[in-house]
Amino acid sequence: MGMRVLVCGGAGYIGSHTVIQLLAAGHDVLILDNFANSKPAVIKRLESITGEHLRVHAFDLRDAERTERLFDHEQIEAVIHFAGHKAVGESVEKPLEYYQNNLGSTFSLLRAMERHGVTKLVFSSSATVYGENAPVPMTEDLPTSATNPYGWTKVMIEQVLRDVAVAQPDQRIAILRYFNPVGAHRSGTIGEDPSGIPNNLLPYICQVAVGRLQKLRVFGDDYDTPDGTALRDYIHVEDLAAGHVAALARLTATERAVSTWNLGTGNGSSVLEMLHAFERAVGRTLPYEIVGRRAGDIAASFADPGRARAELGWKATHTIDDMCVDSWRWQSQNPNGYPDA
Ligand code: NAD
Ligand code: UDP
Repeated sequence: MGMRVLVCGGAGYIGSHTVIQLLAAGHDVLILDNFANSKPAVIKRLESITGEHLRVHAFDLRDAERTERLFDHEQIEAVIHFAGHKAVGESVEKPLEYYQNNLGSTFSLLRAMERHGVTKLVFSSSATVYGENAPVPMTEDLPTSATNPYGWTKVMIEQVLRDVAVAQPDQRIAILRYFNPVGAHRSGTIGEDPSGIPNNLLPYICQVAVGRLQKLRVFGDDYDTPDGTALRDYIHVEDLAAGHVAALARLTATERAVSTWNLGTGNGSSVLEMLHAFERAVGRTLPYEIVGRRAGDIAASFADPGRARAELGWKATHTIDDMCVDSWRWQSQNPNGYPDA
């Protein structure tokens, strides 16, 4: 049954891909985004992919009054909350901005939901909450911690959600812990468009492939892993988007107030494996050099996705080659990302 879903941060990378799948699943979608880390151009692209007119509310979710008014005027039945800042390094430089934006937006949203009796929420958390010394594959019942302000905002928001669910037991909250989202919609018209020099591996490789950056620096080849480079659980953004649709459906059926699900493939791929998969997608080799480890990096992070499989009937289906082919289609068709206007 279709619901009216408010997608906070719906113009961003993961949000935009999720909007397409929500519409395909029969939901009615409202987007709220202040375009702090996205461009309005994404909306036209979404409209041309879906053939639907999208309703967009362009304001800061921290604006509690406007958020209240939105809930007053729209019969919102469920919320997916992607809105927040996400750059680990920047969060170390600007901790207050991160705490203010990520926590502040969540408070404003939770207040409006409480006042309007909205009881279904899907929240974007991250595998970063497993901290530094977690064993792999990571299961949802591991203790949580963080190594930087961004990670702490996720740990803290998860706690806030659990506390709210105790006080409001009719809440149905999904905490989704994403591993490493990559890839793009198969049309090549929407994708990840980081501002400035990318910190994450795939966007960096994309920009090397398209000639915006000279060469990849591989951070460390002396980890205790098969080829010495670090392992991550890269997951196609389309699989991730499908996980949100599945979680939303599950919230209408579960008796549990808070459910926590890992969204990952369960496979750890090394930096060099990803580079070589990307080279296959592009059809040529790409320049790289091995440099020292990056501060704060862990050797291996990958999910045990068993709970999501059992409870959501969801499973990632795309390979790393699919991810690289789709990332490359987006990047080669949009070498400079989205246009400004
Ligand atoms: P993104 O930056 O592309 O999308 C976030 C969107 O939220 C942007 O469009 C931004 O403009 C908007 N936004 C930020 N603050 C806002 C505010 N106060 N009011 C209204 N809009 C606001 O990021 P993404 O990669 O799509 O990530 C979505 C969510 O998933 C984030 O919460 C992120 O922390 C989480 N996450 C992302 C990754 C990843 O690697 N991409 C991994 C784990 C978790
Ligand atoms: N990485 C790298 N060079 C880069 C960016 C990342 O070697 O320019 C490595 C990084 O050290 C990590 C992996 O690629 O082992 C994934 O990094 P990313 O920042 O994408 O994800 P995270 O480490 O946050 O999971």
